Amino acid sequence: APSLDVAAVRADFPILARRVHGRPLVYLDNAATSQTPRQVIATFDDYYGRYNANIHRGLHTLADEATAAFEGTRETVRGFLNAADSREIIFTRGTTEAINLVAYSWGRANLRAGDEVLISRLEHHSNIVPWQLLAAELGFTIRVIPVDERGVLDMAAYRELLGERTKLVAVNHVSNAFGTINPVREMAASAHARGALILVDGAQATPHQAVDVRDIDADFYAFSGHKVYGPTGVGVLYGKAALLEAMPPWQGGGEMIRTVSFEAGTTFAEIPHKFEAGTPAIAEVIALGEALKWVAGVGLGAIGAWEGRLLAHATAAVSRIDGLRILGTAPDKAGVLSFVVDGAHAQDIGLLIDQLGVAIRTGHHCAQPLLAQFGVDATCRASFAAYNTLEEIDVFVEALERVIGMVR
Ligand code: PMP
Repeated sequence: APSLDVAAVRADFPILARRVHGRPLVYLDNAATSQTPRQVIATFDDYYGRYNANIHRGLHTLADEATAAFEGTRETVRGFLNAADSREIIFTRGTTEAINLVAYSWGRANLRAGDEVLISRLEHHSNIVPWQLLAAELGFTIRVIPVDERGVLDMAAYRELLGERTKLVAVNHVSNAFGTINPVREMAASAHARGALILVDGAQATPHQAVDVRDIDADFYAFSGHKVYGPTGVGVLYGKAALLEAMPPWQGGGEMIRTVSFEAGTTFAEIPHKFEAGTPAIAEVIALGEALKWVAGVGLGAIGAWEGRLLAHATAAVSRIDGLRILGTAPDKAGVLSFVVDGAHAQDIGLLIDQLGVAIRTGHHCAQPLLAQFGVDATCRASFAAYNTLEEIDVFVEALERVIGMVR
């Protein structure tokens, strides 16, 4: 497997030198937000210090430079996803906004009473609630692909749920709550065989594995910058060009029009601009491009393999703790370790372990329907990134044992 020089990786992240409550920070909340390498941080200084200007409509040097950097990132993202055409890349505020764009543009134009949208029990709320809001308005039905006791999608049930009425399948590529990797390529093939489209929520996949939207044959694919070593406030919707071209605009405003007239009405810009109303997060988009270049430099093969080692090490170590139960035991998992402990509330563990310098997440992870099936309303979740070390896992497990001893 390709190898990763973790010391070199760590040297790129100034925040890793921080101390928390007097101890070296052990940051294991990467599924919520990953940390940012200095190359990405530097982008903001460079942009605001040298060429801050609104894009696309300027005829001056700074505007040209900003536009070139912004549009250059569209091409970087195209390469990152192996999309065919950079017009298929739409910048959004994040995964949530990307899914809402599909719901309110494609969904409003294409879904009606009698239709079905298939989602799964593994979904993040951002791939549940937009469909619920739209279903209340349009009257279509949401059906849910079940998961088994390992947190793995029931593929036989999925194939049975797919039918004449299914218009869209909306599933995540990797579950943020359990780390389950879903067979989205196979799911896309089944959906397409039934004439349905597939939207893949890639928020948790893009940081851990190379994604090829053409190989998956995804109709839509969404991800967030802040989970893939980039900044907050920016994300991406990939959509097949023919679909995007046929979709109505979602938000109206500047940048997304060709002509506006009170007499003749308004005509819209070509994709992708049709879906990018208003001034975008220019610096954040450019910084996302730097983040994806950083990721490519380290290599997603190396990152995924390293995180696999971290996950295996952590899983083996916490499995020795009395009364600890891991939730999500899929054979195919990305770097997420979710667990509950008998006699110890997740919130208490989270607060106390922070006192020891260890950042994990506790709560429902925006996946309440999934946790409900497992009879819990909160778990502790440690999630891994390229810069985490085996030693940090040992610090975490030792801290966890101490904390459990304190609260039991
Ligand atoms: N989907 C998944 C699987 C996620 O993990 C997240 C973030 N936790 C989201 C969607 C939403 O992403 P954002 O908040 O960046 O829009």
